[in-house]
Amino acid sequence: MPIYEFLCLSCRRKTSLFVKSISSPPEVSCPSCGSRQLERVVSSFAFHKSLKTIHEESGEPDHPSPDYYKDPRNIGRWVEKKFHEMGQEMPSSVREMINAAREGEMPGPVRELQPDVREL
Ligand SMILES: [Zn+2]
Repeated sequence: MPIYEFLCLSCRRKTSLFVKSISSPPEVSCPSCGSRQLERVVSSFAFHKSLKTIHEESGEPDHPSPDYYKDPRNIGRWVEKKFHEMGQEMPSSVREMINAAREGEMPGPVRELQPDVREL
């Protein structure tokens, strides 16, 4: 089950929560202040690992520029690497989304495949 990391927009604390799927966003509230103004900060592909761990293992820069992920050639690279590191086959549905995105289509779900770089 994927872990989502959320940033509370009220008290700026981060919290990690298990959720069932990316297609059914969870009803979450901040464990510190109870606010429901939470923003997701980590891709659903961060299975059982913190973002910090992923960056340490992947050697990716701690703060890749937003342009890195806007470059169509880099779409999905992060995901491909994660699946490879986990020794798992990438589901064909994910493969197709990445391929479509690289060809210029940007279906909404592709956002789910990218680390959230809005904060950078
Ligand atoms: Zn809070």
